[in-house]
Amino acid sequence: MKLDALVIAAHPDDAEISLGGTILRLAEGGKSVGVLDLTRGEMGTRGSQADRDRETERATELLGLAVRRNLELPDGRVQATVEAREAVAAILREHRPEVVFAQHTDDLHPDHAACGRIAREAWYLAGLKRLAEAGGDSAAHRPARLLHFMGHVPFEATLVVDVSDVWERKVEVIRCYASQIEPTDPEDRGEHFLFGADILARSASKARYWGERIGVAYGEPLFHAGPLPASLDALF
Ligand SMILES: [Zn+2]
Repeated sequence: MKLDALVIAAHPDDAEISLGGTILRLAEGGKSVGVLDLTRGEMGTRGSQADRDRETERATELLGLAVRRNLELPDGRVQATVEAREAVAAILREHRPEVVFAQHTDDLHPDHAACGRIAREAWYLAGLKRLAEAGGDSAAHRPARLLHFMGHVPFEATLVVDVSDVWERKVEVIRCYASQIEPTDPEDRGEHFLFGADILARSASKARYWGERIGVAYGEPLFHAGPLPASLDALF
C-alpha cells in the first residue's frame, strides 16, 4: 500500500507522544499515514505485553492510521545493524512514502537514538537500485524528506507543526496507553522516568513551549538537516 508519510519509532506510544498531533493533522488532510514500531515495548516497566498490544490497537484507530507495522526487534537492545536498516529500507520501498519521520539520533534512550540512525541509513539505502534488485522486492524509492521528532533531548527545531486544533484528540490518543500513564503497583513511583512520571503533563508543557515559539497554543517540534524550501504563503 502506497503511503504519503511513514513514522518510524522505537516503541509503541513514542509516535503518539511525540508526533500524535502531526499525524492527526496529516490524516485529517487526507494523507495516508503509517507507523512502523521497531519493538513491541516488551521491556517496559509498566503493564504487560498484552496491555500494550491492546492499547496500541486502540491508538492506531484514533489516529486514523492506514498501516501499523512492527519490526519485532528486541526492546532495550535496538541497534543500527545492517539487517535492521535493510529491513526498514525494504518497508520504505514497499510503502513508498514521500515523508519519513523518525526519532532524533541524539536521544538519550539508546533505542530511540538507534531508531534515528536506522531510519536515516534506511532512507538513503532505499534509493539504491542495485540494493532493491538484490532484495528482490519493490523498486528503489528514496522519500523526499526525512524529519526527526523530539524525544528526551531538546534540539533547536527547524520547523514546528501547529497542533492546536487537534490537541484534545492527541491527549485522548496518549490516554489509550493507560498502562504506561497510571501505575497499578503502589511501589511504582515512576522512578524509571528520566524527567518525571507525568507523561501527559510533560507532553503538554513541551507542546505549549513550542507552540509559543511560533505564536500558537500547541506545537510539535521537528528537525530537518539543511534548509527546506519555504512557501511564501507561510510568511503572511
Ligand atoms: Zn520510546
